[in-house]
Amino acid sequence: MISQDLLEILRCPLDPSNVRLRMQGENLECERCALRFQIKDGFPALIVEEAELPAGCESIAQLPCQRSDNAKSAPV
Ligand SMILES: [Zn+2]
Repeated sequence: MISQDLLEILRCPLDPSNVRLRMQGENLECERCALRFQIKDGFPALIVEEAELPAGCESIAQLPCQRSDNAKSAPV
């Protein structure tokens, strides 16, 4: 279980500037893109590559949260 204090400072690794995470059962879920992160030994594993994609989403590129470095270089 993650403490409320820790939960306050955690952010989605895809958009760390302002997107928070919430508890969703045993996992942490991004409030925006709904990526699900496991909690291992009491520590959130905020690793995008290990996170579970929301239902109906096939790749990280489809999520509303995007890494800012990608956003800058991606062609529009
Ligand atoms: Zn997110």
